[in-house]
Amino acid sequence: MSGIALVTGANKGIGLEVVRQLAKRGWRVFLSGRSLASVRRAASPLGPSVTAVPLDITSHISIEAAVSSASHAVSHLDVLINNAGILDHDEGSIVDLPAGRLRRMLETNTIGALLVTQAFLPLLRKSQSGRIINVSSGAGQLSDMGTWAPAYSISKTALNGVTGQFAAALAGSNIAVNSVCPGWVKTDMGGHEAPRSVEEGADSIVWLATEAPQSMTGLFIRDRKPIPW
Ligand code: NDP
Repeated sequence: MSGIALVTGANKGIGLEVVRQLAKRGWRVFLSGRSLASVRRAASPLGPSVTAVPLDITSHISIEAAVSSASHAVSHLDVLINNAGILDHDEGSIVDLPAGRLRRMLETNTIGALLVTQAFLPLLRKSQSGRIINVSSGAGQLSDMGTWAPAYSISKTALNGVTGQFAAALAGSNIAVNSVCPGWVKTDMGGHEAPRSVEEGADSIVWLATEAPQSMTGLFIRDRKPIPW
């Protein structure tokens, strides 16, 4: 079964691979990212089912424009994948973490995903079986919290909170909401020492978008299985 999806931060990395895999399965996909040139460049080899949409998830104006252009093109949205994210590689320790660094991470990794979800919810509600997928990280797991990248990790813990809140708010509706950890993946963010390819990193995300039971909601998934929060 194919559907209509929008992926944020999809001009490269895991997001681009998710778009590729969905398009290969016959899906109509909005490939979004914060630079018009980069989304156009990424979308052009992927064929007519992939539409480039500029979308900076930290900008209300950009989010509204993206919702408006998607609403003109399609009657509904089946899957929203909040994939866009940032990481400062040199974050130091929580002991002297500047608050501004945490604010910046929260702005993109948590609040950006929240605002995009709120904005696309009316289109998702028109789907027969909608899905919201928040690309989180094991670094945000409270059950396994370490010292690495404190601002990034906390922003992903908070993103998991966004997932839990939406899953509860939309319980009994036709929309499933889950977080997913792609594992450590070779991308600009993950670096070249990462053990996983983008294909492997995209696997659970595409599975949640296409094959996971619709009744599966309010979970944190890695390798197609629930993991602790
Ligand atoms: P990349 O750095 O390769 O890609 C990140 C994407 O997010 C880019 O397209 C980037 O755009 C985009 N982005 C950043 N800020 C914004 C914004 N304000 N608006 C729209 N797009 C934005 O990272 P990955 O592909 O590795 O990561 C994808 C997701 O997976 C992230 O959420 C990340 O936290 C998560 N993840 C990754 C892991 C890994 O090992 N790689 C491990 C665990 C989780 P631009 O090109 O313009 O910068």
